[in-house]
Amino acid sequence: MIKKVLIANRGEIALRVLRACKAQGIKVVAAHSTADRDLMHVRLADESVCIGPAPGAKSYLNVPALIAAAEITEAEAIHPGYGFLSENADFAERCEESGFVFIGPRAETIRLMGDKVSAIQAMKKAGVPTVPGSDGPLPTDPAAVKAIAKRVGYPVIIKASSGGGGRGMRVVNEEAELINSIEVTQAEARVAFGDDTVYLEKFLQRPRHVEIQVLADEHGNAVHLYDRDCSLQRRHQKVIEEAPAPALDPEARAAVFESCVQACKTIGYRGAGTFEFLYEDGGYYFIEMNTRVQVEHPVTELITGVDIVAEQLRIASGLPLSVTQDEIQVNGHAFECRINAEDPVNFMPSPGTINNWHAPGGPGVRVDSHIYSGYRVPPHYDSLIAKILTHADTRVGALDRMQIALGEMIVDGVKTNGPLHQDLCADEGFREGGVSIHYLEKKLGL
Ligand code: ADP
Repeated sequence: MIKKVLIANRGEIALRVLRACKAQGIKVVAAHSTADRDLMHVRLADESVCIGPAPGAKSYLNVPALIAAAEITEAEAIHPGYGFLSENADFAERCEESGFVFIGPRAETIRLMGDKVSAIQAMKKAGVPTVPGSDGPLPTDPAAVKAIAKRVGYPVIIKASSGGGGRGMRVVNEEAELINSIEVTQAEARVAFGDDTVYLEKFLQRPRHVEIQVLADEHGNAVHLYDRDCSLQRRHQKVIEEAPAPALDPEARAAVFESCVQACKTIGYRGAGTFEFLYEDGGYYFIEMNTRVQVEHPVTELITGVDIVAEQLRIASGLPLSVTQDEIQVNGHAFECRINAEDPVNFMPSPGTINNWHAPGGPGVRVDSHIYSGYRVPPHYDSLIAKILTHADTRVGALDRMQIALGEMIVDGVKTNGPLHQDLCADEGFREGGVSIHYLEKKLGL
């Protein structure tokens, strides 16, 4: 097993990784910005190194500073968490070249899956169902593009191959808008991602977001950990997640699990990963793969009992997975509410000092959070301050537990989206299960 890990991240995920390391007797180095000296995982780490000023670009995205921090502390491996450099193939390569284990897939896999066009092509080849579309970058000839859109059928969505975080996408309802929309998306993509490759897909009208968690080691073993539903989204950002995904056709579900496991083997995947699908009328359509641990991974841990971060550490150490597919069973149902320091009505960030924090508890409740009474939420980063998770035998039981947990939670000093979560847990449509990705925005009148 690896003996010392540098955590190149902050907030709750840094604390989550620290806990997994401690449980395995692995020493931890916390690499942090000047704004994050008081973070909980920095206090609990064996060593800490300041890697730069508050803005992410100067600290958590500062590759030379991170490599130097690993060097001087003699860390063996680097855990990138999620966001920041977690899906940056060049960073993964730099880590390996400098003699550190990057806790994630090989750089070439990150590159393959990070480009959406090449990811879709690889998945098609591996037998994973994809969204009907252009099957590659759009040609430059307008007549050829129009013919593709006509074959796929309107509405269509133009997407940047290098896009991410819900950006670089545009829906087109009719041919008259097509060429102009492509040009605008290309121009935006050039500025935002430095790559103006765009492709086209059928725009699904009322899909659900269903994703499948996988783990693969260096010994040719690959398993799935069932699915999650993350359809409650605002601006393509997830708000509540659950596992397993409710109300799906068992046969189609089993087939897609199998094709994800096969795809891992085909592309030589290593580490934890997630295949994201849109699900509509019984059909699964692959949209992208995340080559890292995800925010919502704990819902899967609650229903399967598998510690995903511990498995990442095993895989990075060259050890085989600790579980086989047969041993991974679904037990009950779990939800996660993402608690953000933001205004519950207009969603404006609400940084500041938390005067008082009381975390909910009791049977079937898990709280992943780095905050404490007196902690100051800095304005520089993502507003996620806590993940409240509940687990019960049934979906309704887990939702009821969530309502009680949210009622117990006290965050005093900053505004949070707690009231929105209370509302959603009581929402009749959501309680029934299987809402589309547009459900939340419609409810909010957006
Ligand atoms: P990103 O990498 O920016 O997260 P994704 O490709 O994962 O982009 O898409 C993000 C979200 O956009 C999806 O969860 C879904 O809500 C919406 N979306 C993407 N592709 C389509 C599509 N073909 N039809 C309808 N909605 C889509």
